[in-house]
Formats: sequence, structure tokens, C-alpha cells
Amino acid sequence: MAPESVDLTVRTLGDCRIESPLAPLLAETESTEHYVDENDRVLFDDTVNMVAARKAKLDALPGFEPGGPRRKIFFQPSKTRVGIVTCGGLCPGLNDVIRGLVLELTSHYGVTKIYGFRNGYQGFIAKYGHPPIDLDAEAVSGVNEYGGTILGTSRGSQDPYEIVDCLESMSINVLFVIGGDGSMRGALTIADVVKERGLKIAVIGVPKTIDNDIPYIDQSFGFQTAFSKATESLRSAHVEARAVPNGVGLVQVMGRHSGFIACYAALANNDADYVLIPEVPFQLDGDDGFLAHLRRRVRERGHAVVVAAEGAGQEYLESGEPGQVDQSGNRKLKDIGLYLRRRIADDFAEHGMETSLKYIDPSYAIRSVPANPYDSVYCIRLAHAAVHAAMAGRTAMVVGRWRGRFVHVPIALAISKRNQVDPAGDLWMSVLETTGQPRRFA
Ligand code: ATP
Ligand code: MG
Repeated sequence: MAPESVDLTVRTLGDCRIESPLAPLLAETESTEHYVDENDRVLFDDTVNMVAARKAKLDALPGFEPGGPRRKIFFQPSKTRVGIVTCGGLCPGLNDVIRGLVLELTSHYGVTKIYGFRNGYQGFIAKYGHPPIDLDAEAVSGVNEYGGTILGTSRGSQDPYEIVDCLESMSINVLFVIGGDGSMRGALTIADVVKERGLKIAVIGVPKTIDNDIPYIDQSFGFQTAFSKATESLRSAHVEARAVPNGVGLVQVMGRHSGFIACYAALANNDADYVLIPEVPFQLDGDDGFLAHLRRRVRERGHAVVVAAEGAGQEYLESGEPGQVDQSGNRKLKDIGLYLRRRIADDFAEHGMETSLKYIDPSYAIRSVPANPYDSVYCIRLAHAAVHAAMAGRTAMVVGRWRGRFVHVPIALAISKRNQVDPAGDLWMSVLETTGQPRRFA
């Protein structure tokens, strides 16, 4: 396969001339190797075959800028004014990230002016009437114990010129945007207006996606909490299905375009018989279709558990009302869970099989919980990396983790495509091994 061509260059606001105030913290260690060498890179490729395919000298191999503290920084901390905003849907860990940013900025860099912009990008636009709030250690104390976001969020587009007007009028130097793909598109337009006006404002994203659909990032924060929570619903569905003759448990989980939550929850639980995801189209009818398979499975084993990602099988629902979009322009999905429930019940009835079908949709229960300890650790480390990047004058980038290392990813790259389950990859293979379902229902 030809090597993937990527531009990993991160935009900077200029030379870093200011001595980092982290020196006392890092000097106590035997060496100061905690500082990132500005010339170091985290290699994009990590197998011998990938490297060999580049046919390149080592210094020509693509590599991400590593995350972490720089010896020299761009912004004078005592004069730096910071803004933080959360946009898009809820995701476990938003408050952990907010708290992580505030504490790193205040305790180690000595930044004293931090504003929380409320209700997403609306918070920059005066007419909505959501004035920013002051954030300090006290204001974020204990917020990580709760789901949601203390800053509120919203969808719907706002004019990037008006947003930058607001940043300029408040003399903000650094803006952290915590949000999904739409929010990162918004962040890039803000960074572009900043550049167009010749301003020195760093725009740094902390990508949020419960569906784990942002590319060039091993796993997004909140994802582990989300699939752990979804696993509880699978367990309930299994218990319900086993308790009655011909029982079917049907669980719809989040995953608009990417079925990672469905796959991981199914693997964690190991009781799912079928996993339906957007990446793998399936046929419902016919001898090799999903319904016939399900009927056979229930006949043989007495029960079955089906997990469907919300974006699965949308092709069955396309007819009828024209595609609708939400305030941010995202296509509204039709409810595959309800559709499957009806089709399964009808199919069993048609074949004279009595069944009891229990349908569980834990979507909002999954989004709104606080992060689990693993995600909390990940959130705080992303927040630290985001602060180091911002103080060193990076902009138009998101922080992420690539093959286990914290890295800077240009926003343009992070929104260039969607991370999806590869039907030819090892994750889907594991799902097939666990469920025993056919590679395709066709
Ligand atoms: P989620 O994954 O939960 O949907 P998201 O960040 O993608 O999160 P959206 O509602 O799509 O959520 O977008 C959040 C904000 O980003 C909205 O205010 C939206 O208007 C803005 N936004 C979305 N797409 C763009 C774009 N292409 N350019 C500028 N701003 C955008
Ligand atoms: Mg989105």
C-alpha cells in the first residue's frame, strides 16, 4: 500500500523567547529532559513495512510535534489572558479538561486571567446575553465529579469575525476550544481570521468525540467511559433476553458514523450475538439477511442480544421525510433502533415464533456521566499538553495521542476525514470472532 501523505506542520505565532516558568518544577529532576526538544518528532509510521514504504531517510519521515513543556515559551504568563469554551454535544470528561487547563495555567505558568465563555460559540456574541465567567482554582474545584460542562454548550453557527472581535476587545491571547469536529472547524475559521488580522492569538483544540471518530488520535477522551456505560445496558439486555423463551435484547448505542462504542461494548461484554455498525451495511431480508439469522440463532439458543450503533442501517430509513439537519448542519438520523424493533417483532410473528423483545437506548445516560478514572487521567494529560502548546505559541492545532505519545495535530488534518471502524481491520475481526455473526449479511 502507498504510504499516506500528510502535512504535520503546526502553525506557530512566532519565535519563543521567554524563559518557561516551569523551570523550578523541572529543575528538581536530575535532568531537564522533561522539556521537549523543539526538533524532536513523534514518527507517524510505527512498523518496519510502513517505514520501508517511504523509501526515505530518517529525517524525511513524517513526524508529529511532541506535546509537552518547552524551555522557551511565546507568551509572557503574567500578561496572558485566556478563554475556554465547550461546544457541541456532551461527553464524559469535559469538566476534567476545563479543570486541568485552569490548574496548569494558574499553578505552573502563573496565568491569572482566565475566562470561561458560556454556551458554546454563543458566549462570544453579545446578543445572546451569556457574559463570560472568571475561572480560577476555586471556580473549578471538584467540577470533575460531575458530568456535563460547567460552561454549558450549544450548536448553531456563529460569525467567526464577531468571535474574533470579542477576543480582541477582551485582549484574549489564548483560546482553548473543547468540542467535536464541528467545533474544530469553527476553531480553524477563528484561527484563520486571527491570522488575517495579524493578531497573536493562539487557538488550541482539545478534541471531544464520544464516538471516537476523530482521526490521527488513538482514542478520544470520554470514549472509554462511554463504552463502559454502554456495557451495562448490554448486560441488562442479556439478562432480560435469557429470562424468557425466545427473548431478544436490542440495544442502540451512540455512533453516528463510527461504530466504535458498539464494537467495544460488545467485546467488553462478550454476550452480544450481533453488532450492527454504519461502516458495515447489512441486508435485513432474505435467507442470508439479518432477520433470518436472528431467527435461527434464537431457535438454536433460545435468546439473542443485538447491539446497533445509531448510524447503522440508515439506508433502510432514507425514504419518507427528506433528510433533516440540526442547528449546526449535522444530518439528523432516523431511529434505527425503533425500526429494528418493529421489523424483528413483525418477522418473528410472520414465522409463527413467539418472542419477547426488550429495547434499551442508553444514549443520554452514556453522554452525561462523569469520566471514569482512566478518562480522567487522559483528560488531565491532554489539558497539560494543550497548555504547554498554547504557551509556546502554537495555534490552529489540537492535542492528541498517537501510538501512545501526546502530540500536536494541525486542526486541518484532524478534520480532514473521519475515524471509522475498518471492516477489514482487526477490531471488526475481533467482533466477528466474539459474536459469531457472518462477515456480511448479504
Ligand atoms: P458533536 O460531535 O457532539 O456534534 P461538534 O463540535 O461537532 O460536536 P456541532 O454542533 O456540529 O458539534 O458544532 C459545534 C459548533 O461548531 C457550532 O456552534 C457550529 O456552528 C460550529 N461549526 C460547525 N461546523 C462548522 C464549520 N464548518 N465552520 C465553522 N463553525 C462550525
Ligand atoms: Mg460533530
